[in-house]
Amino acid sequence: MRYQKLAELYEALSGTPKRLEKTEILSKFLKYLHESDREILYLLLGSIYPEYNEKKMGISSQLTIKAISKATGTESRQVVREWKNLGDLGEVAEKLTEHKKQSTLHSHILTTEKVISNLRKLPELEGNGTVDKKISLITELLTSASPIEAKYLARTLIGDLRVGIHESTVREAMSSAFFNKDKEASKKIQEAVDKSNDLADVFDIARKGKLKELEKVSLEVGKPIKVMLAQKVEDIKKGFKAVGKPCAIEYKYDGFRLIIHKKEDEIILFTRRLENVTKQFPEVVEYVKKYVKGKSFILDTEAVGFDKKTKKYKPFQAVSQRIRRKYDIEKLKETLPIEINVFDIIYYNGMSQLNEPFEKRTKLIKKIIEKHPYKITPSKQIITKDEKKAEEFYKKALKDNQEGVMMKNLQAVYQPGSRVGHMLKVKPEDRDFDLVITGAEYGTGKRFGWLTSFILSCRDKNNFLEIGKMGTGIKEKEEHGVSFNELTKELKPLIIKEKGRSVTIKPKIVIAVTYQEIQKSPNYSSGFALRFPRFTALRPDKPLSEITTLNEVKKEFER
Ligand code: ATP
Repeated sequence: MRYQKLAELYEALSGTPKRLEKTEILSKFLKYLHESDREILYLLLGSIYPEYNEKKMGISSQLTIKAISKATGTESRQVVREWKNLGDLGEVAEKLTEHKKQSTLHSHILTTEKVISNLRKLPELEGNGTVDKKISLITELLTSASPIEAKYLARTLIGDLRVGIHESTVREAMSSAFFNKDKEASKKIQEAVDKSNDLADVFDIARKGKLKELEKVSLEVGKPIKVMLAQKVEDIKKGFKAVGKPCAIEYKYDGFRLIIHKKEDEIILFTRRLENVTKQFPEVVEYVKKYVKGKSFILDTEAVGFDKKTKKYKPFQAVSQRIRRKYDIEKLKETLPIEINVFDIIYYNGMSQLNEPFEKRTKLIKKIIEKHPYKITPSKQIITKDEKKAEEFYKKALKDNQEGVMMKNLQAVYQPGSRVGHMLKVKPEDRDFDLVITGAEYGTGKRFGWLTSFILSCRDKNNFLEIGKMGTGIKEKEEHGVSFNELTKELKPLIIKEKGRSVTIKPKIVIAVTYQEIQKSPNYSSGFALRFPRFTALRPDKPLSEITTLNEVKKEFER
């Protein structure tokens, strides 16, 4: 397909803020999309592969500027000037391409296949001359682009498409295009996406318009899925009311989620952000090989750190660096050991366990895991209808340095990707949010060159709304925790706009913060401001879809 057609679709989508209109526009486009154009489904959301694929374009604003400069014959300095003026590299590329087009005759036709093919070469490049090769792959595309194509190419490269559509919009558009907005079909499409995490795969099936086919989309060992999430409840009493008596009560470990896949002899570990972290945890691979029976399975677990000498559990912050660190792994394994607590099973020996009741799944866990505390073990659990026993168990969990307890309905199924009312967390009030960094300011004096003040945002459906500015909790020196230098390095490639010392940052880096109070405030787009927000940890495991929502902020404010 001509890339121009897709660029025009992007333009039409950004022309309306209304979700329903966007869905209708997209639905019409999908209806006539050919089977062989399935990969456009990735481009629609600004990517080149399904969400879980680890090959990312990794193109910074700086590199895009160089390519725009080359493709349009404009000096880099001039491109930067235009960027500061217009605030959007897409518009810069559009404007400069327009100028160039007036002086040169151009005959190339850019296709979506060519765009995908060049963009997919980017993550494959390695070694000497990588930067130059990247620039020439991008320049090749920009050179044959029309102004509007250049606009959306540049935006795709820096990961800021700005057309206001999300996975949910694509799902709804598929339901409208192929099933006449049938409610049941919407649900089935969502389930299929949650299991496969691949919009193009689901598109292939949905376009045939057969509900039964969608139901056949199944889990695949080795392919990550979105995990089931819990709702919050104030206390044990309310918990029982919601999940019924008796129920299972488990420790809510203060660690991070690891989803463990076994396929023949291969063990693969994923975070809840669908990232493959197998290399970071060689000891877990070993525990699973030694202590879990079964040819193939998917286990849902919480990894929690502990002190080697005292055997006391450590808080999440203490071990969070194990998720990201790709070097010194053998050393970290010794200094920051973790225990795997298995709390669910989703697949076993060729059979999906999603529709089995929790009671049965938890029995299966106990049957196949040889319990080895401080290595791998089923989660600590009681099954009871007695409130006193439940309260005692809750107290014990807190004494054991854990966050609280989870209360689970014994008959409930496993719903990937959903925040369900049959799995509840009970924990003390903590004044703790998970927010995303959407802006920052460069420091001055001693802190020159570092980003030192950070704009934080919560989520409202598919938008990010600002809720405060934070500078405390981050360290000047590396060895004392997460440093300004480290955070600046992470954030710089994500800068999408610069104005004086302030920068706008593509929402990606999720952090945990504590605060003293929430106030109403007209200064931030959420309508709220956090007083004294303080950084506590990076949350590299947490996807954007699961950060604190505006509703949760409102609830905490009212409390
Ligand atoms: P929080 O920020 O309160 O940890 P969260 O947003 O990370 O919550 P929730 O869905 O609210 O995630 O709470 C469930 C999380 O608790 C799971 O994602 C999992 O990582 C963790 N957890 C710890 N122990 C258990 C357990 N026994 N059963 C289920 N989840 C558990």
